[in-house]
Amino acid sequence: MSEPLIASADAIALRATVEAETTKKLAVALQQVAAGPVTPTIDPTSFQDELSGFDFHTPRSLSSVVDWVVGVMSRGNVQMTHPRYLGLFNPAPALAAEQADRITAALNPQLAVWSHAPVAAGIEHHVIEAFCERLGLGAASAGHFTSGGAEANLSAVLCALTRAFPDIGDHGLRALSAQPTVYVSADSHLAWIKIACMVGLGRNAVRLVATDGLGRMDAAALALALETDRRQGLAPFMIAATAGTTNAGMVDPLHACADLASALGLWLHVDAAWGGALIASPTLKRELAGIERADSVTIDAHKWLAATMGTGMYFVREGTILNRVFAVSTSYMPSNDAARDPYVTSVLWSRRMLGLRLFLPLAQVGWPGYAQHIERAVELAAVLRDDLGAHGWRTVNASAMAVLCVRPPDGSAAVRDTVARVVENGVAWCSVAHFEGQDVVRLCIANGASTRHDMRLVADALHRACASDS
Ligand SMILES: *Cc1c(COP(=O)(O)O)cnc(C)c1O
Repeated sequence: MSEPLIASADAIALRATVEAETTKKLAVALQQVAAGPVTPTIDPTSFQDELSGFDFHTPRSLSSVVDWVVGVMSRGNVQMTHPRYLGLFNPAPALAAEQADRITAALNPQLAVWSHAPVAAGIEHHVIEAFCERLGLGAASAGHFTSGGAEANLSAVLCALTRAFPDIGDHGLRALSAQPTVYVSADSHLAWIKIACMVGLGRNAVRLVATDGLGRMDAAALALALETDRRQGLAPFMIAATAGTTNAGMVDPLHACADLASALGLWLHVDAAWGGALIASPTLKRELAGIERADSVTIDAHKWLAATMGTGMYFVREGTILNRVFAVSTSYMPSNDAARDPYVTSVLWSRRMLGLRLFLPLAQVGWPGYAQHIERAVELAAVLRDDLGAHGWRTVNASAMAVLCVRPPDGSAAVRDTVARVVENGVAWCSVAHFEGQDVVRLCIANGASTRHDMRLVADALHRACASDS
């Protein structure tokens, strides 16, 4: 006899047992993760053998399978919850965000149509409004949760195209007489390339504008590129400035970009996927000055805001553009509300409740709690910079965010080899990045549980690993 696939509402005892066991297993696993190596230790061959044992013919107890999964997951991945995972923004999630996933999963609301889930959609909307207000996007602004920054940026390109070429939704790009072009910095997140390909613009429509030597879009180079392209008969329609580059946490000149965009009638998007978290901090948010002039903004909650993976946000100054982009009508949907039905105002159709992952932690600790979370990470980055500085390392990016691009002392081993040694050793996870023409070690702090002691350990590990004969 196998266990039931769906636990009925009265299966309280079964639910309680399963959930209590999972909770306990996770608590133990998380402790083991924090005390162990950041990198996987599992033997791939034996893992593959065990996996092949799941032939999906013989039922097993859920408890035994959960046990196995938690065990292999806590030994077989690069560990995002590890306090010395100084990687690609992926956070240790807030406990409240984890609870959000649990509640959402149990009740499983469908948010395609507002009237189907007025409470779930209302909670998401409340969070989006709070961000719109903090961003200063104005009374007509709107937005929604996305699967991540890439989807949010895709939405931005679609909005920009629709405003610039109102017939495009009906006739497509092929009805245009000129090639539309979009402007991003050479240090932007290259989801732009995929997006250009997906929407049919083609990769060549993306102009990678030179940076200024400090990792920010060079405004003069942008102006020149725009002028040259216009003279050659191309149709620039969008500037996408980055506020917090992926590599180095640099902010493009937002006011200069906004000036150019408004002079030429272009859409200004600000990709603040990671750096947008600074709006939580009254002091650090000044680094994003100019963001309030954007036509649209991307902020990821699954980076510095400690939500679980798959939580991005897209904000737009003129909310009505969304239905112009995503409108469709069908007989099988219960309603077609152009102002607020998510399936006619965003990329997704069936929609999971994502916003609870931000609503719960915000309700719990508020903006002040998030400000503390952000400011603390920035302080830890300064500690790490000083610890490394004491070993003769140089920080080459001047970011207000919690990311360092560092170079070892002259005569050290190559950056690539140094990083490979640290990662292999498992004491920390960091990556190699390319910043203004040179290889750097990239160290990003996103985990609210990392400590000064962790920074000391990371600095020591890097310094040992950079000895050219180690
Ligand atoms: C991470 C990032 C993205 C991509 O976002 P995903 O959530 O990974 O889809 C886009 N832009 C910037 C600046 C980023 O840091």
